[in-house]
Amino acid sequence: MKAALFVEPFHLDVAEKQLPPLYDDNLLIKINTCGICGTDYHIFSGTALAKKNTVLGHEFSGVIIDKGKNCVNFEIGDKVVIDPNIYCGKCKFCKEGKVNFCVNHKALGVTLDGGFAEYAVIPSSQAYIIPDNLPLSEASFAEPISCCIRGIDRAQIKVGEIVSIIGGGTIGLIMLQLAKISGAAIIIVIEPVEHKRQLAKELGADFVFSPYDNQLVASIKDLTHGGPHLAIECVGKTETAALAIELVIRGGNVVIFGQPQLNSKLEFNLYEAFKNEITIKTSFLNPFTFSRAVELLSNKKIDVSKFPVTEVGFDSLPDILKNGYNSTSLKYQFKN
Ligand SMILES: [Zn+2]
Ligand SMILES: [Zn+2]
Repeated sequence: MKAALFVEPFHLDVAEKQLPPLYDDNLLIKINTCGICGTDYHIFSGTALAKKNTVLGHEFSGVIIDKGKNCVNFEIGDKVVIDPNIYCGKCKFCKEGKVNFCVNHKALGVTLDGGFAEYAVIPSSQAYIIPDNLPLSEASFAEPISCCIRGIDRAQIKVGEIVSIIGGGTIGLIMLQLAKISGAAIIIVIEPVEHKRQLAKELGADFVFSPYDNQLVASIKDLTHGGPHLAIECVGKTETAALAIELVIRGGNVVIFGQPQLNSKLEFNLYEAFKNEITIKTSFLNPFTFSRAVELLSNKKIDVSKFPVTEVGFDSLPDILKNGYNSTSLKYQFKN
């Protein structure tokens, strides 16, 4: 089959790769869509780690075309979306239910072959059946949604709170919808690109700001009588993390969700954070949240159909990863 292999930083090879054997607990998936994620850009440019010669891509959906004999809960022809994260179940963290810290953590598309390929052989434990009326391209958003649910769980939003979201890309716009479902009274999105701010409004943001607005922090504090109760950072930069900490009201919560660079260090006013009892949390991977993501998508409680998607084939995949995101397209999706 044809597949896009990560050779080393800045080198993605589109080549023929032999499919592994189909064991009893495995499904053979004909891949339909695989979302290109910020993590893929990080891996490509060497700022996140991946195993060499692995097929990248961890946000994928497709159709089952063969199955091992133990896969009794699946039928050939089922449409599925894949949770890429595989935990050992045996280490200290797994046994404490903290699977996202698993010391033997593996991930399809990072340390095992993933979704930038024609086919994938995957453990059936990773597959979730989706209903017929959910398009496979929309289903591929289940992985980022499952990670966002972890962030929302960590945020512990209370009904009626004021929530700010920093970054209006795919993640920010999913967070916005989850915050709304969770009962936020006011949702503020901070995003530099005009059409993303517009989309945020369409999806339920009450107020949108550009980070370049004059007096950004003062305006939001004024508007919210002291600041939002919660700031969710969805960019992964130190400036936006510092902004989140500065923005929230006394006693407020900050969730750092965007993936930072490997060695980034954050500077903020420790005295102000101390005096204001600011809680800073992070959110990592998607422990036990994938089925909720599939339910929300399947029941149309999260709308990804308005996200402007650019489809990418094998030919243009290396260039897309090399050039990084452009600000007009919200999401690139690899399509077979
Ligand atoms: Zn991802
Ligand atoms: Zn483990």
